[in-house]
Amino acid sequence: SDHDLTYPESPSAMDWSQHYPAFIATEEQESTTPNPADTTDSHPKPKKMTQQVTIADIGCGFGGLLFALAPRFPQSLILGMEIRTSVTEFVQDKITALRKQAQTTSNTSPHTSTTTDHPTMNGSSAPPPPSYQNISCLRANTMKFLPNFFPRSQLHTIFLCFPDPHFKTRKHKARIVSPTLNSEYAYVLRPGGKIYTITDVEDLHCWMVEHLAGHASFERVAEEEVEGDVCVEVMRRETEEGKKVERNGGRKFVAVFRRLEDPPWP
Ligand code: SAM
Repeated sequence: SDHDLTYPESPSAMDWSQHYPAFIATEEQESTTPNPADTTDSHPKPKKMTQQVTIADIGCGFGGLLFALAPRFPQSLILGMEIRTSVTEFVQDKITALRKQAQTTSNTSPHTSTTTDHPTMNGSSAPPPPSYQNISCLRANTMKFLPNFFPRSQLHTIFLCFPDPHFKTRKHKARIVSPTLNSEYAYVLRPGGKIYTITDVEDLHCWMVEHLAGHASFERVAEEEVEGDVCVEVMRRETEEGKKVERNGGRKFVAVFRRLEDPPWP
């Protein structure tokens, strides 16, 4: 049940500083960084951030995708959204532990070009190990109030990985791809941004393609572009469900959709 969930009244009321403390703006940056989180006078202003969340993993489960994305997009803030309390807590605790571990490692062993974990072709110093400061997870029912978290066009990527299939026709309304929810995804995604979907249920794949490609704000991305996309590779390999399907020799159906520009007002 989600009756105990609370939501920010609006994106500007959302305090991201607890999620991404390493990205809190310094006082100097505060005066120069425009922040959509500026609020009305009736509420205390959340701390300003140097970055906004731009990647959302909706129904992130145990967070495999988040942990894999963290080092690949170190400058992007990535958010997992998950409805189950214990699962959300598991992901949050794991992030805290990984951040601590990264901190300890960076304090005790200075990073040098001799690091073997990250070999580079030219012998120059390897990329720094992930700090996991750029990922977080919050508990939410994303079928409700997604635009309360993100203002229009803030996100550039949304992942819908192995969403619950809700097989029975009378349960289809519980699917996280629907005409109404697609309009919410279109609202929070910037033009050119993408929705990545993957499932092992062919019927659900067809449903997602039908409803997303059929929505005025989205077009399906061509196969050649999909195949070369690092996000597709990561979601195929690193999600918990993706691994499970791999172990069982199942099929994975992938489809990616681009957010189109809005037509000009008449
Ligand atoms: N994305 C993960 C993966 O690929 O391994 C987990 C997939 S699991 C089958 C679906 C997840 O979506 C579950 O963890 C479930 O609790 C979560 N979920 C279902 N409905 C949701 C909703 N309305 N809001 C947020 N999370 C939801």
